[in-house]
Amino acid sequence: MTLFRSEWLKLVGGSALGSLTLGFAASASGGQAAGGTVPYTLPELPYKPEALEPHLSAAVITLHHDKHHAAYVAGLNKALAGLEEARAKGDFAAVQALSRALAFHGSGHILHALYFANLAPNPKPASGALLDAIQAQFGSLDALIGQMTEACNSTAGSGWGLLVYEPMGRRLLVLQVEKHENQLLAGAVPLLVIDVWEHAYYLQYQNRRPDYTKAIWNVVNWDEVARRFAAAVGR
Ligand code: MN
Repeated sequence: MTLFRSEWLKLVGGSALGSLTLGFAASASGGQAAGGTVPYTLPELPYKPEALEPHLSAAVITLHHDKHHAAYVAGLNKALAGLEEARAKGDFAAVQALSRALAFHGSGHILHALYFANLAPNPKPASGALLDAIQAQFGSLDALIGQMTEACNSTAGSGWGLLVYEPMGRRLLVLQVEKHENQLLAGAVPLLVIDVWEHAYYLQYQNRRPDYTKAIWNVVNWDEVARRFAAAVGR
């Protein structure tokens, strides 16, 4: 759990109040705040399920959070328990499958926590240092949105579009992630994540993924993206 805790804290800004700065109440952060061997817990939604309508329906948000996100938390804890058992027995025959489960469910949990927190009703437009960096890196905010939307639309099967900060080159990049963990870039910090698994939109948009990836920009919480950017660059 130590590695996961440090990775988590890196994601949320390296602060003991990391779970707070993600937009969740401290009481909802559970294992993330406590660290050690405490199981991961499902964070509460930072808004009411209907808050993002009409762009995302209450039914989609409720199912997505209460069932799908919860399943990744359970899967992550199960993988960790399996690894603990393997260490206790000194039998590592299952370590390959458990390692895969750890990466899949661990990324699934973290990306969903970031996803629900980087959405908000009636958000303010991007501004300040974040907008400056987007303009410098992508040419314009519209160009970023165009690239990221197309990355989302063309993801093969289930996956994510991610805006990340890559600390070695100190630049913003858009990643097209398959499943939850494939095509991630080592060390890159997610700033804005868009879920394009069918469970994120099918109930409302059926097979019209581009309608969902167009609508979602109306509820992107740019203040939260800016906060993650500032934490990632160490300001
Ligand atoms: Mn999802």
